[in-house]
Amino acid sequence: MILDEIKKREKGLEIINNKIREDGIDSIIDLTGLAGGFNISPEDASLLETYAGPAVFDEKIQSLGIKHLGGEKVLPLNRTTAGIVATIITYCPKNSKIVHYLAKKPGHPSIQRTAELVGADYIEYTSIDDLVIDDDTSLVIITGTTMDHEAISLDDFNRVITKAKELDKIVFVDDASGARIRTAVYNQPRALDLGADIVVTSTDKLMEGPRGGLMAASNEIIDNIKLTVNQYGLEAQAPLVVAMIHALEIYTPERIRIAVSQKDELIEKLQNLGLNPLATPTGFMFKEDAVMDELKRRGVTSDLSSDIIATVYSMLLLSNYNIITIPAVGMPGASKTIRIDWSANDSQKLSQDDLTEAINTTFDDLTRVLNDERVEEVLY
Ligand SMILES: *Cc1c(COP(=O)(O)O)cnc(C)c1O
Repeated sequence: MILDEIKKREKGLEIINNKIREDGIDSIIDLTGLAGGFNISPEDASLLETYAGPAVFDEKIQSLGIKHLGGEKVLPLNRTTAGIVATIITYCPKNSKIVHYLAKKPGHPSIQRTAELVGADYIEYTSIDDLVIDDDTSLVIITGTTMDHEAISLDDFNRVITKAKELDKIVFVDDASGARIRTAVYNQPRALDLGADIVVTSTDKLMEGPRGGLMAASNEIIDNIKLTVNQYGLEAQAPLVVAMIHALEIYTPERIRIAVSQKDELIEKLQNLGLNPLATPTGFMFKEDAVMDELKRRGVTSDLSSDIIATVYSMLLLSNYNIITIPAVGMPGASKTIRIDWSANDSQKLSQDDLTEAINTTFDDLTRVLNDERVEEVLY
């Protein structure tokens, strides 16, 4: 059996839709850490209906974006992925080399896909001593924090910058969640303040914004990339920009810091139930393998692959406890890690005990579904 990611996502969204119809939006507890926030005022909405809107919004996003990311100019994008695609198309000719340093593999799949698209070689490194930057290198990429929120150390960040700048290479930072995790949790400086040339972040990761990307760099670099962005239709449209503005206005690192201070207690409660979660900066996670290990501990065996089993777990957590985690609703290819972000706004809807109970009981529910061979029914 192979996971049908399109059908699975449709099922996940259908469950959510039904719950909202029956019990209202407040019944849903989104702990993905992806806010999808779209808070706009009536005044914003009326501005959107005129050609004046974009002019007003562009000025606002410039000042707020530069405050958040640094640099001289920002560029709002449809997604972080759009920023990755546009940067590689702009700066990486065919047969050149893209070098990527990150705390843990893999990097975001859009990097490799775009490297293939332009015909560039692509290499990921997780050890500085192995990192090779040479004359053929067209772009050096750093991932600030990976999709599983593993952060680069400040020391490694500085060393990559030093190596890249010895050969005058452009450094691009994929700081999708890192722009907040690195700064709010680890007190690291912003990517551009560390000497990177370009940074892109996701406006819905650890902040209350819409899914979108925000890039910052010098005027010259932004103008170069903007040309590609407009040619390929990757820019954020005005409604998205308005929602980004609001998210930047209300962002503070406070909630992230509270989650950091509470997560040890949360993890201890899970450990007291015999579970073995892995800490993340703002919560905890069970990777696919950890879900399998927990089943083994309960004496359950299955021939199904770990991505399917982790997705079933995520689906059960959603249908039985209204808790959203990424595998149930993620795009095809998204990580199958069950990650709970305690800094998510919706964490206020349940206590630590409610959450640990739900996490533990869902392993029981998963065991039952596997024993009764009801996997297909749960997934699709
Ligand atoms: C989420 C993420 C992206 C992509 O963001 P999208 O909004 O899905 O385009 C890229 N890189 C990293 C490290 C991410 O965590």
